Amino acid sequence: MPHRPMSREQQWLLPPSLDELVPADHPARFVAEFVDALDGGAWAAMGIDLAGDPLGAPAYHPRALLSVWVYGFMTGVRSSRKLEAACREQLPYLWLTGCQTPDHITLWRFYAVHRAGMRQLFTRTVRMALRLQLVALAVQAVDGTKVDANASGARTYDSAGLRRLLDRVEGAIDDLEAQHEAGDEPRPARLPAALATRRRLRTQVRTALATLDQPTSPTRINLTDADAPLMKTRQGVRPAYNAQAMVAPVARGAAGGGRLITAVAVVDDPADAAQLPPMLAQAEAATGTPADLTVADAGYHSGAALAACARRGHRVAMPEAQARALQQPYHKDRFSYEAARDRYRCPAGQWLRFTRTKTTQGTAMRLYRASGAVCRACPAFGICTTDGRHGRGLEIGPHDALLRRHRAWMATRAAQHWVAQRPALVEPVFGIIKDQQGARRFLLRGLANVKAEWALLATAFNLRTLWRLWRAPPTEPAGWDAAMTTAGAPA
Ligand code: SF4
Repeated sequence: MPHRPMSREQQWLLPPSLDELVPADHPARFVAEFVDALDGGAWAAMGIDLAGDPLGAPAYHPRALLSVWVYGFMTGVRSSRKLEAACREQLPYLWLTGCQTPDHITLWRFYAVHRAGMRQLFTRTVRMALRLQLVALAVQAVDGTKVDANASGARTYDSAGLRRLLDRVEGAIDDLEAQHEAGDEPRPARLPAALATRRRLRTQVRTALATLDQPTSPTRINLTDADAPLMKTRQGVRPAYNAQAMVAPVARGAAGGGRLITAVAVVDDPADAAQLPPMLAQAEAATGTPADLTVADAGYHSGAALAACARRGHRVAMPEAQARALQQPYHKDRFSYEAARDRYRCPAGQWLRFTRTKTTQGTAMRLYRASGAVCRACPAFGICTTDGRHGRGLEIGPHDALLRRHRAWMATRAAQHWVAQRPALVEPVFGIIKDQQGARRFLLRGLANVKAEWALLATAFNLRTLWRLWRAPPTEPAGWDAAMTTAGAPA
């Protein structure tokens, strides 16, 4: 087979335009349409005046800079230096900027100043999908994933460790200062780099110690990212954040469905237990309506979470961690309650009476007791209770009735069906964000900053989903135009 002629010095009589080189259904074009559809209110919310400043040197257009960041987050290019290189070398970026090449400082300044305001872009993606009727909200699922902080675990210390480090640093500073002041040579105008570095470290350690001395502070602190606690991740214990996402399936149809994130959060608490109510509230605010059913794993289960869901009228399906204990023949659910006389009846027919209220982990619990003598004579003694003196006790929390109702619902086939669907609904989202959008680790430091980073990752995830549907639209192109321009208003 002959080879095609090839020349790197080829001259073109009619050179191709950039527009020709970017396919009509390229994701960069979708990003450009999304950004171009932002109205004045959206730009103002990001603190950007589209008219620009009449004085001074011309600046890069905010549309170009925002498009570059959004497209970068969609494709796993998230650092300003890599984006600068992409703006010089890659066709989609050249097309997005109109062949301009902003440097990493320009790109970084834009992101640093406006990233908090970019969160509203996430809400716009959700509302766009709703306007296009791509999300039915029959079911949604919530989950969390640990994302590494931009910090080394070796720099996490407790108070004792910080004091030892402070001693070492002060010793090193004394030595360096002695060297600096010794000899007859005139002293340099600037401090030696090693001395300046250790002085900075000393200040950092003192600040960290002062933070740990606060009454409500954690027991350990990381010197690189003071907000990032140590968390157990699949790769071991390391500084990380707990990133949350509420996910709804896209209606089956064009492009084979997909998923849309409807709420996001990042917390410095490794446990998910307190995250369900705020995630539900945020999803409802973005979509304008509660989902028919929300599915969560056992990490979210608690009586307080169920009570909050019940108050807001949210229906949830979530197993609980003590599923095995529930199978025990003398679990407290096997004791029936008689409201009229405020007492419980055990499986052997003995009545447990209210004795007192006690506080367990900050929650007021009502304590009911059987008779020790009756329990000692019971065939179940040793299984139901080993307390022969006081007999079996029951601690009943304020949400006990709600927990029992939820257990009854969770025993139904419908609830079990949805719980089984949960991993397939939400977990691929984290896989795509980490593998394809490159977010195994946050690039920024500090809780407020990683919140903005996670929101932009979720925005980019939603735009990937919407782009797939846009290039194979289930609705007319005019529907997309209308959805983009009206996505700022509540659904
Ligand atoms: S041990 Fe006591 S509380 Fe338990 S079943 Fe027997 S009588 Fe009832």
